[in-house]
Amino acid sequence: MKDAYRRLQDRIQASADKAGRRAGDVQTIAVTKYASPDQIRTLVEMGHAELGESKVQQLSQRVAMLEEFLGRKKTLAGAAPKSSVDGLPEKVRWHMVGHLQRNKVKQIIPLVGLIHSVDSLRLAEEIHNYAARIDTVVDILIQVNATSEPNKTGVAGPAVIHLADQIDTMMHLRLRGLMTMGPNTDNPEDARPGFARTAEIFSEIRKDKIGGPECNVLSMGMSSDLEVAIEEGANVLRIGRALFGDPPQE
Ligand SMILES: *Cc1c(COP(=O)(O)O)cnc(C)c1O
Repeated sequence: MKDAYRRLQDRIQASADKAGRRAGDVQTIAVTKYASPDQIRTLVEMGHAELGESKVQQLSQRVAMLEEFLGRKKTLAGAAPKSSVDGLPEKVRWHMVGHLQRNKVKQIIPLVGLIHSVDSLRLAEEIHNYAARIDTVVDILIQVNATSEPNKTGVAGPAVIHLADQIDTMMHLRLRGLMTMGPNTDNPEDARPGFARTAEIFSEIRKDKIGGPECNVLSMGMSSDLEVAIEEGANVLRIGRALFGDPPQE
């Protein structure tokens, strides 16, 4: 775990250097879908507080698992003040990165700090309505299908600005930025056109001041294409395999 974390930091540093950016401006979300509970606890103990999941049910199980773990740690620390909780985050923040069904909105809102995968007006409205009902504001990203591939989730490039405008009128949603996924291929360069296009739409949104100054998140890049993502301006990476190892073969 620790080695994998260090290797990942090295990759981020190297590509930030290459792109003339600061590695500290690139945040990593550890996507835990193939991680064991043990790996997740280890990562959190190392001080990492940004976690992501792609499925609602698994996310809620892991939230519960970690709450229990952090609670236990704190109780222990309280009983013996010398024992160390140093480096243990006060709270972890969960990100919903996978496709979200409208009937799961109610369940997910209390659990997550940011929803990366808003891919339709109907989903945005559903989140907004529930957020209004419980009187909260939900941070969201619009998921972009930048290259308009037919079988991919996400809003097609040309429709993104319009959706961003609509979301901007919804008081219980806070548009924080855009998310996109590269194609599922072996060549990281295949991701570049989509990343570049998404970055372009992102800067248009910011130039038009849609969403305001807090619209500052560009979530793109996974284990295989994070270098390309950093070069194209990503400030949030979603990393699974590079931290937790490859998923078991089916
Ligand atoms: C699984 C997943 C990731 C992480 O992918 P890796 O290739 O394991 O780094 C990132 N984003 C989403 C939406 C995912 O489902």
